[in-house]
Amino acid sequence: MRVAIIANDAEKSRVTATELKRLLDAADIELNQERPTVVITVGGDGTLLGAFHQYLEMVEHVRFIGVHTGHLGFYTDWRNYELELLVESLKKDTGQSVSYPLLDVCIHFNDELADAHHVALNEATIRNIERTMVAKVSIEGECFEMYRGDGLSMSTPTGSTGYNKSLGGAVVHPRVNALQLNEIASINNRVYRSLGSPMIVAPNEKVTIDLKRDDRYQLHLDHYVRSYDNLSSLELTLSKKRIHFASYRHTHFWRRVNDSFIGKIKDED
Ligand code: NAD
Repeated sequence: MRVAIIANDAEKSRVTATELKRLLDAADIELNQERPTVVITVGGDGTLLGAFHQYLEMVEHVRFIGVHTGHLGFYTDWRNYELELLVESLKKDTGQSVSYPLLDVCIHFNDELADAHHVALNEATIRNIERTMVAKVSIEGECFEMYRGDGLSMSTPTGSTGYNKSLGGAVVHPRVNALQLNEIASINNRVYRSLGSPMIVAPNEKVTIDLKRDDRYQLHLDHYVRSYDNLSSLELTLSKKRIHFASYRHTHFWRRVNDSFIGKIKDED
């Protein structure tokens, strides 16, 4: 086992990472930032997202573990005061893991540029940053609707509790192998019409977003933002790759959702 540690800049995270290094050293577990088999992030969901993109090339050969130094996160199972327990679990590791779906994004450009491929853990969001986005949305090559509005977002099941939820999308259990397409402030009136509700797309279906205006667009891939003025279309599908987490402990998904969004409630009759 080779372990990499990725911590965010917060003082608490840095202290936690230093202590983790000391414990791993004492347990004779190799630290290796370049070729890890296990990546431990210390911080929050954002730190895990950053580490995912950092190790994307080797994502099939790496298992992630999230230590959180704030609230229980969606990608972080361990608390900063549980490091000894975590190192004990690493010592007894038998390769146990759980995997979740990822989103594949293929970008086509107006000019001669070759297509670009990206993978997202939470979601991809496309927005026209100049005026109303007009886009033909096709599913499996068949025109479904002409969308008009601020933009569109496609999320993975684990990303469904992120930006997708703020857009009014459904929270999807990560064992469901599907993507969710969501509208951002669509225009729906007697002239223009799109579905107006989130859609769950089947695992083998490709959604194509044909951008009808030569404008400037912003593409968000998780926490990364890029601007383009030569975008032609996007193709969105479930990725063949999946993210793997070392599953030494299991936090029930709906408990995590409750903990994050609802909190303790009085059991009233
Ligand atoms: P950030 O790092 O400031 O994160 C924003 C919040 O989203 C944090 O509280 C984070 O814990 C939470 N978050 C991240 N992934 C989540 C997930 N899968 N489920 C539930 N909560 C999650 O923001 P950023 O770096 O700009 O973007 C990171 C992610 O944050 C994005 O991929 C997006 O899903 C989410 N986000 C949400 C909104 C929103 O709800 N309006 C806005 C921006 C970003």
